[in-house]
Amino acid sequence: MLYSLVTSLCEMAYASGLNRFMGTYGKNSVIFLMYHGIIKSRPHDSLKNHYGYNIEEKEFESQVQYLASHCNVIKASDALSGSNLSRNKKNVVITFDDGYRNNYTSAYSILTKYDLPALYSISTDFVADRIPLWNDVIEYAVMNTTKNTLKIKYDDSEYDFMLGTKDNKIKLYNWLLSNCIEIKQEMREGFVSDILKGLDVPVNNEKLLRDQDYEPMKPDDIRIMADSGMAEFASHSVHHYTLTNTTIETLLNEATESKNRIEELSGQQCKYFCIPGGHYNQQVTNAVFKAGYEKIFTSEVTEFDLMKKPDIIGRYCITGSVNMALFADMIQGPIHRLYYFIKSMG
Ligand SMILES: [Zn+2]
Repeated sequence: MLYSLVTSLCEMAYASGLNRFMGTYGKNSVIFLMYHGIIKSRPHDSLKNHYGYNIEEKEFESQVQYLASHCNVIKASDALSGSNLSRNKKNVVITFDDGYRNNYTSAYSILTKYDLPALYSISTDFVADRIPLWNDVIEYAVMNTTKNTLKIKYDDSEYDFMLGTKDNKIKLYNWLLSNCIEIKQEMREGFVSDILKGLDVPVNNEKLLRDQDYEPMKPDDIRIMADSGMAEFASHSVHHYTLTNTTIETLLNEATESKNRIEELSGQQCKYFCIPGGHYNQQVTNAVFKAGYEKIFTSEVTEFDLMKKPDIIGRYCITGSVNMALFADMIQGPIHRLYYFIKSMG
């Protein structure tokens, strides 16, 4: 209800040009945007991309055009060191999570057209070893099963799911995602493999990864991007685990091994860590800093204030439901600023 009011007010602010007027303040503030996949077209009537984390290429290009015309888009390293900031335009850093190949084939080529830099955070098991992301495996299996029912034994209980319709499949998909986030890491692999057996969908990694929405970047892509000087790389861990459900040893390994591999792949120092799924606590941040990272990026909506020198930095997630009016207002205000201010007051 409140958000639909926000949407209407954003449409009015965008139509009147209020955003651009409001955006011309705050030399010390920087907005970090978080994208995931950039896809050719939105699948119709499918479970795929149900939450809209992947956005269409043409929508992305419109957003990039807006940023190129009205904002000062800078590298993450410049924003964090206070370099190349604008006094007159909103400072923006573009980031991508996961390491999908469409970040290179679509996003990077569009950004190159407008001469804009970005930060790409990658899960090294996905990119270097071509092991599909666990959430993509679940999406693929639920989408492609021909079973009509599924019985799952979990946590001393038995669950029955109907699978005949898209709505039924979405119910199962949501249940699986939330349990995969909750479950202790060492239990998850067995849990997912039992589900795959039950759904009777053989997951052949190479077949799944040939789908352009699931395919990881190639090492050569990373080198080309890094050599252009317009791409920086961050770690998104090794396995994209929910880091709050792992041991300290696993945490340290996730942070250290991914850092080393990204440095080998990109030839750049890997100084930033983007939290997979946005789940973190003090144990996670301690391990990440211990592994030698300078800054951590999360999925909390906050504006980065250089004067406060934070080590943990929030980002605005851009999904398929963000139209141009919402996009412009997220970056420049005033409606989203007011909305988050009211929310923070409880
Ligand atoms: Zn991710």
